[in-house]
Amino acid sequence: TGIIAVGHVAGVRLLEASAATPGGEGRHLTALLVHLAFLLLTTSVASRISSRQRKTVATLEVQSKLDPLTLLDNRRSFLTKMESELMRAERFAWPITMLIIDLDNFKKMNDAHGHAMGDRVLVEVAKLLRENVGTIDHIARVGGEEIAVAAVAAEPFHGRDLADRLVRAFRTYGWNCLLPDLKVTASVGVAVLPGDHAAGHPETALSQLMERADRALYRVKQNGRDGFLVSGEEPVAQTVR
Ligand code: GH3
Ligand code: MG
Ligand code: MG
Repeated sequence: TGIIAVGHVAGVRLLEASAATPGGEGRHLTALLVHLAFLLLTTSVASRISSRQRKTVATLEVQSKLDPLTLLDNRRSFLTKMESELMRAERFAWPITMLIIDLDNFKKMNDAHGHAMGDRVLVEVAKLLRENVGTIDHIARVGGEEIAVAAVAAEPFHGRDLADRLVRAFRTYGWNCLLPDLKVTASVGVAVLPGDHAAGHPETALSQLMERADRALYRVKQNGRDGFLVSGEEPVAQTVR
């Protein structure tokens, strides 16, 4: 095993050092054996601890990237992934489409049915999104009842199509699996970073893209919720039901 290999390597190095000393090889050999036994013991214990620690670190690393409720990526993990997506997009002149989805009147939902039901809705929302968003697109819970979806290298109309599909999916989803007559709707803001966008700092470009999607979302909320708007377009599309 790896543990024994580590012990042997340490022993060989000590033996060479001791052979170089004239006389007293017997004493040295005893001391060496004691050393070796100690080393094997400590490396074996250290190895076991570190393998357990390695597992813990790996688990923590996965957990630190996931939202524990929905098991979607969390905000931090999304931003990290998107920064590298932006760098790739810049290199290959790919557009990036960003959707910010915010549940409508979710506070009222919690007030009416309780926080635990709100949590169950969020879990169901994650399921709805996984079913409706392409596997290469990124989905992340970026806020309490806010989820971001990002599509890389998609056609320019992809954002509008996807937002439209998602808003409809919320309207028609079988929420009665949680409560009879439960309705959940969402508002979606969309922003597209064109493939030929000027090169800049990925962090800045990302926050600007998300801000544009946020502003579009804000306008959807002002216009009555349960719809979508693409940044830079007029809010006509939102009213198409
Ligand atoms: P709007 O349509 O304008 O977005 O209204 P809203 O009520 O959804 O928005 P607001 O920002 O006023 O409230 C967000 C609510 O989302 C309040 C908060 O309790 C709820 N929320 C955020 N995170 C969670 C969560 O993890 N679980 C539950 N149950 N509720 C959450
Ligand atoms: Mg919100
Ligand atoms: Mg909301």
